Amino acid sequence: MGATHPLALAPVTSPPSTVDGFVKEFLQNLNFERGVTLTSSSPNDRYMALAHTVRDYLQARWLEDQRRQREMQAKGVCYLSAEYLLGRQLDNNLLATRLTDIATEAMAACGIDIDDLRQQEVEPGLGNGGLGRLAACFIDSLATMSVPSIGYGIRYEYGIFRQTFVDGQQVEQPDAWLALGSPWEFPHPEAAQEISFGGHTEKYDDDGVERSRWVPGWNVQAVPYNYMVPGYHNGRVNTLRLWRAVATSAFDLRIFNSGDYEEAVRAQTFAENISKVLYPEDSTPQGKELRLQQQYFFVAASIADFLQHQLAEDYDYEKLPDRVIFQLNDTHPVIAVPEFMRVLVDERGLEWDTAWAITQKCFAYTCHTLLPEALEVWSVDLLGRLLPRHLEIIYRINDDFLEEVRERFGDDEMRIRDMSIISEHPDRSVRMAYLATVAGAKVNGVAELHSQLLRDKVLHDFDEFYPGKFTNVTNGVTPRRFVRLANPRLADLITDALGAGWTVDLERLRGLEAFAEDPEFRARFAEVKAANKRTLSEVLLSRDGFTVSDGHMLDVMVKRLHEYKRQMLKLLHIVTTYESIVSGKVAAADVVPRTFIFGAKAAPGYVMAKRIIHLINAVGSVVNSDPRVEGRLQVLFPPNYNVTLAERVIPAADLSEQISLAGKEASGTGNMKFALNGALTIGTDDGANVEIRELVGDDDFFLFGMSEPEVEALWAQGYKPADFYQKDPQLRAAIDLIASGAFSGGDRSVFEPIVSNLLYDDRFMVLADYASYIAAQARVDAAYADQDAWTRSAILNVARTGFFSSDRSIRDYIDRIWHTPPVL
Ligand SMILES: *Cc1c(COP(=O)(O)O)cnc(C)c1O
Repeated sequence: MGATHPLALAPVTSPPSTVDGFVKEFLQNLNFERGVTLTSSSPNDRYMALAHTVRDYLQARWLEDQRRQREMQAKGVCYLSAEYLLGRQLDNNLLATRLTDIATEAMAACGIDIDDLRQQEVEPGLGNGGLGRLAACFIDSLATMSVPSIGYGIRYEYGIFRQTFVDGQQVEQPDAWLALGSPWEFPHPEAAQEISFGGHTEKYDDDGVERSRWVPGWNVQAVPYNYMVPGYHNGRVNTLRLWRAVATSAFDLRIFNSGDYEEAVRAQTFAENISKVLYPEDSTPQGKELRLQQQYFFVAASIADFLQHQLAEDYDYEKLPDRVIFQLNDTHPVIAVPEFMRVLVDERGLEWDTAWAITQKCFAYTCHTLLPEALEVWSVDLLGRLLPRHLEIIYRINDDFLEEVRERFGDDEMRIRDMSIISEHPDRSVRMAYLATVAGAKVNGVAELHSQLLRDKVLHDFDEFYPGKFTNVTNGVTPRRFVRLANPRLADLITDALGAGWTVDLERLRGLEAFAEDPEFRARFAEVKAANKRTLSEVLLSRDGFTVSDGHMLDVMVKRLHEYKRQMLKLLHIVTTYESIVSGKVAAADVVPRTFIFGAKAAPGYVMAKRIIHLINAVGSVVNSDPRVEGRLQVLFPPNYNVTLAERVIPAADLSEQISLAGKEASGTGNMKFALNGALTIGTDDGANVEIRELVGDDDFFLFGMSEPEVEALWAQGYKPADFYQKDPQLRAAIDLIASGAFSGGDRSVFEPIVSNLLYDDRFMVLADYASYIAAQARVDAAYADQDAWTRSAILNVARTGFFSSDRSIRDYIDRIWHTPPVL
């Protein structure tokens, strides 16, 4: 360090946190960053300048925290996740830094409505749904709780597609979220990592020891883009480091020299494809080569980054378990395990057994599913072609592991086959969940029921083999974004009642139980809900041209479209209610008025999910224009459900639909967001619904449907969905109405595949749970009739669900898995 000028030694100071200071900084940013004056600036210029002003304010703390983390060498978490569904950043960063009021006044002083600038921000949709959103909640909690940590992931140029509807059918548009630039990222091309692929391995003699080395075929550069992750009101700023793929100059040059310009450009495109687009499959990964490239690309870059930048040069690797834990968010980053072994053994010369002992302490794995089709496998063919050395390492890990299994259980070939990391059928492939389980110090599920089912079923043999390895950490959501920001009215009401501490200590919401008995508080709470509904109406009017009916119960189902989540069941309830009115079985006046809101993206290749979207829209367009149900039923399906929409819809909801088939939803986090915002849940005993119901109590939760053991029993007995159709006239009427073409202009063929799927396949037992669901909805209607009692229940839902803060999840990870205390 050759700094001599005194200013170079002084810490960077934060900009002044006064309105005048903010205005000055903002105008400077407009001038110097954007090259415009206030009068000549576009809304995007102003948004950018505002974002830069907030960013500048965080900068000093960020640099300081990075220095401290390096210096202290305290044990920290590297969170490895292929997805981060961040949502908009501006508001979150204003909140974290307490700058909201100052920024609002400063903008007003410049004649700008800050709300207009908020609208300018395109949310970074670098995730599909729950899994990516969980990662975003976790990095928020890690920063807020001052845990030394860094999030690693991929900077996709195109995030999750933008959903549009054309004639009621989903059409995907690319999400060019970077088109106008992102003010929140800091690229560091000078800190790029070189990431290799392909080629072959060769044996060589190292002083009488035979070793293997990888001779790669091609490489790309991983350029880090850093994002600030501010803690809430604690002055902390952590880092999220997302990698972008760029062609290596060496690679280009070689081709350039051969005079093939087109080929050089093609190589560039090839390299940059790696971080081009997020795969839009949620829970049903496709074994695509590019996806494996993405996975290896980001974990290899992250491991190299950590080892180079966080450790001293002569670091004793045997001490690594006291320094770092790599948390694998699902199987997407599991290729990090053989990569870590390769680095330790091939590059740093450690003995295999030493390296393996270190690895088994430095990794932990979070499983996110129970669906067999969601368990990732990679064909040995593909792995051998793309990562030949890693395949060798995986084979060696598997050989050693199966040897241990034999020692313990004898030559039980059936068990060996079942537990092998390499599966032979249908094609020889690597089971990534097994690799993660063998390598991980701990394996956790994401809700109590899910963790239990992992131990009892999906990974049962492993639980037996590794006693104590399996644990649970129930998911959570950040109260900063999903209560404080999304529901400022409720947040103010809570703060009025309980003081401000609840935002970082959500169990304090318990204090609201007493207020549930106070009529005046109930009235204020009801007014908050009513005001949130008005806000949502305005949003849906300007966003989608919808007019939300006044005075309706808002019945909401927003989440990815997947058959296991059972949007079809919700739809059958709607069609049943509609049919009962138009057929005269029920008087419209006797029906509790409801507005049903759906939000759901389907994976572009998931044909049945897209048909269901089409049917929801078709039912909506018939119901919404039928005068016989006017003022009673309304079906709205705003397209492109994302974090920004979630923040508007959830605070307005009365009823939260969490109706997956028991044993299929690992946890859910949408369910938590709704309860914390005072919606009552109608739900199955699945995922974290179980824990929500236990905390909220049966009186304030609408449980229905089979339990997981009942589901198993029905399968064992032989499930025939058509029998349910035959026996239940109400169900028959609903399905017949769909089959009749009533929602497809008389064309019976359009939704025939949905109908026959329900009648003859119905993998997720929609028909078996239908009657129970309809009965539970009748209980909902009855409860809603007493508005004051409903409000009391809603308050109790808020009061009793503080457990679902992601701060608590992180505390559980620290206690049960990471052992990384906060460093204050
Ligand atoms: C919370 C959230 C999810 C997850 O919802 P589930 O109901 O748990 O599936 C998906 N997408 C977005 C945008 C979310 O905010």
